[in-house]
Amino acid sequence: MIEIDGNRLNGRVEAFAVIGATQKGGVNRQALAEGDRRARQLLADLARARGFSVSQDPMANLFIRREGRDDSLAPLLIGSHLDSQPAGGRFDGALGTLSAFEVLESLEDAGIETERPVVVVAWTNEEGCRFAPGCMGSMAFSAGEIPSEWHRKLATDGAPFAGELTATIESLPGAQMVPLGFPVHAYLEVHIEQGPSLEANDIPIGVVGGIQGTRWLDVTVRGQTAHAGTTGLAYRRDPLRALTAGLANLYEAIMPADADARFTIGRISVEPGSVNAIPEEARCTVDIRHPDPDRLDELEKQVASAIEKEAGQQRCSVSIARSFDMPPCTFPPELQDTIERAAANAGFKSTRMLSGAFHDALFVNRVAPASMIFVPCRDGLSHNEAEFVEPRHAVAGCQVLARATVSLAGETRR
Ligand SMILES: [Zn+2]
Repeated sequence: MIEIDGNRLNGRVEAFAVIGATQKGGVNRQALAEGDRRARQLLADLARARGFSVSQDPMANLFIRREGRDDSLAPLLIGSHLDSQPAGGRFDGALGTLSAFEVLESLEDAGIETERPVVVVAWTNEEGCRFAPGCMGSMAFSAGEIPSEWHRKLATDGAPFAGELTATIESLPGAQMVPLGFPVHAYLEVHIEQGPSLEANDIPIGVVGGIQGTRWLDVTVRGQTAHAGTTGLAYRRDPLRALTAGLANLYEAIMPADADARFTIGRISVEPGSVNAIPEEARCTVDIRHPDPDRLDELEKQVASAIEKEAGQQRCSVSIARSFDMPPCTFPPELQDTIERAAANAGFKSTRMLSGAFHDALFVNRVAPASMIFVPCRDGLSHNEAEFVEPRHAVAGCQVLARATVSLAGETRR
């Protein structure tokens, strides 16, 4: 029976938090920049010290391989990412990557031979803050190619993507180059929940059943600008009044009626934006999320009709454009069952849940069965320097990953 070394795991999390450490106890280790490269080098050094082989693909996805009894079999892939937000926490990404590496070391310590190889992965640019979009590494891996337009992208700090990618790959000399998108048996990722529900319910393990879909809309309502003092109610064509009335209805109608729905207005603006003029135009962004693709369509229609209704009363026109559409994904139930059994077997309470954020597992799931193991984080806080995972919860997530790894990679008798 595999047992992970919890002290070694939590020590490793501490050691990686030093790379790109911020004054408030978080990390700034943005994709393909100096800190990201140092973290990759440290992981590669640790891997070589244990005799594991280190490779990378043209997207700088980093792989650490422990051979199985039959190396012709597709490997079990486990891991997460090492890059962070500019004011990120120490656990988002790093915990999953280091948990996967701890599993590899524990297999080695216990002398367990698996039927198929087990490969740890650190995906490139999960966060998407220095270079957009996020999950570039897993997206390119699952597509089997790097979209050509990515090579012309610039970082928020002005650095060219192509140059930063090359420099990152070259910062790991000696790592064998492997093609994008080699065959994978299955993929498992440990990650912090980045929400409050596991902690609130005192459950250490979340078995992730899928990732909800996200759709972004740009809404523009057009009316007529006019004098704030001289224009009576009957003469007004006020786009902001229409927009805010429509949004007020939607706040009441969407989330209170459907616990799985998310409706957020993150940006709102008016033109010309003068203190004593009725606006000509009112705009807002809408972020809607739902695990059911049909409900996502319904919510989009509901947003349009609520705003159009109010705009009609104000004699205003409405245009709505989609700026982003990420369909929901469902992880294979058999893999969720495997994680659930691994948790029960290791003596941890677990619950099935959906992920509100996207992750690399969403893209890997397009080419191989994937699922995730969530652990609680304090106050549900993430993308924040104060992000914190209790050591016992980090150990629980890693222990469940270890048991699931052995059952998916197959233990052989020596
Ligand atoms: Zn993450």
